[in-house]
Amino acid sequence: MGHKFISKRYWTDQSTAMGAVDELAKLYDDTIDLSLGDPDIITHKSIMDKAFADGYAGHTRYTDFRGDPELREEIAKFYKEEYDVNVEDEEVFIIAGGCVGMYLILESILNDGDEVIMQSPYFVPYVQQIELARGVPIELATLEEENFQVNPDRLKSLITPKTRAVIINTPNNPTGNCQSVETMKELAKIAIEHDLIIIADDIYTAYSFSEPFVPFMSIEGMRERTITINSASKDFAMTGWRIGAIVAPAEIIKIIQQVNENVVFTAPSISQRAYMYALRDRKTLQPPMIEEYKKRVMYGASRVNDIKNMSTLQPMGTLYLWINVKQTGLSCEEVSDLILKEAHVVTIAGTAFGKSGAGYIRICCTVGVDKLKLAFDRIEKMGIFN
Ligand code: PMP
Repeated sequence: MGHKFISKRYWTDQSTAMGAVDELAKLYDDTIDLSLGDPDIITHKSIMDKAFADGYAGHTRYTDFRGDPELREEIAKFYKEEYDVNVEDEEVFIIAGGCVGMYLILESILNDGDEVIMQSPYFVPYVQQIELARGVPIELATLEEENFQVNPDRLKSLITPKTRAVIINTPNNPTGNCQSVETMKELAKIAIEHDLIIIADDIYTAYSFSEPFVPFMSIEGMRERTITINSASKDFAMTGWRIGAIVAPAEIIKIIQQVNENVVFTAPSISQRAYMYALRDRKTLQPPMIEEYKKRVMYGASRVNDIKNMSTLQPMGTLYLWINVKQTGLSCEEVSDLILKEAHVVTIAGTAFGKSGAGYIRICCTVGVDKLKLAFDRIEKMGIFN
């Protein structure tokens, strides 16, 4: 770890829970790996055919610095058609995936030492992404007994003169819950009162099962203080293409572009074409895929709630099950460990997603119902669940 050629910043272990789990999955021959949120369904063939044809036709070079103009146009159209939000071309920036997008945003908006409040449990990389941009991550716990809604009073109690932004992720990884429009309106009021930016990590827009997805930027007064991260990764099963978009006020986009010129330069050109075709055909491509994930998540939730010492709220979105295992009397790390050793199923202990994840494990429904059944059949036989 402390090698002379490695920055001292990295002399402590920086590996993520996801990286560690990857090793565990290799321990047994019959492991069912439900750890990583990577859709098992591959990108629709029609998207690939069209994108690869464009590659052969010459779309293999750097694109415009803000992204392929045709994709930018498609992104703006998407927000107009789906949510009746007018997005100007200068407000769109094409990114090489949501993860890079978050870093570019933080690097562009934070002064050294600025605080960023994160809805917690949170997507694992946020903490280090904030720290890379010399900011300070602050956890804002959401609780099961409050239906994982962001509590406005708890948010207010964390705001200091150094608070710059609040990261909201709905539908949420890992809880599978959604913020209600009422909650979003409350948060908007607070953001306006304290002059804060909302970073809306909108990765699972198509996976909002219980209510139609509402983008934060469509809430009154939020257009000029919302930075939206949009990604093809989950909405079109395109994680490996590394493609998405940021929608933000033009002044912020200009700086994001400058930062990106020193990091990625331009997003992959063929992926940009692929995302453009995906968006154009979304009405036919998305519903069967989303139905499949919804079916799995609902099946998983019903199994969980039939097993002693585990429970989950009714899933509202995403492809995750967020399972309360407090009744076992063990820590979530111990439970996750035992599930691996006894049932050969890989899950992630909730604390990987922040302090408020204690007592939970996350399962990704990235296998079909048959395999999910097998996983739960094994889990329900374990001593701690009987
Ligand atoms: N935010 C959240 C909440 C996520 O779950 C993910 C992907 N798991 C990302 C961002 C990153 O997505 P991308 O593949 O676009 O980098």
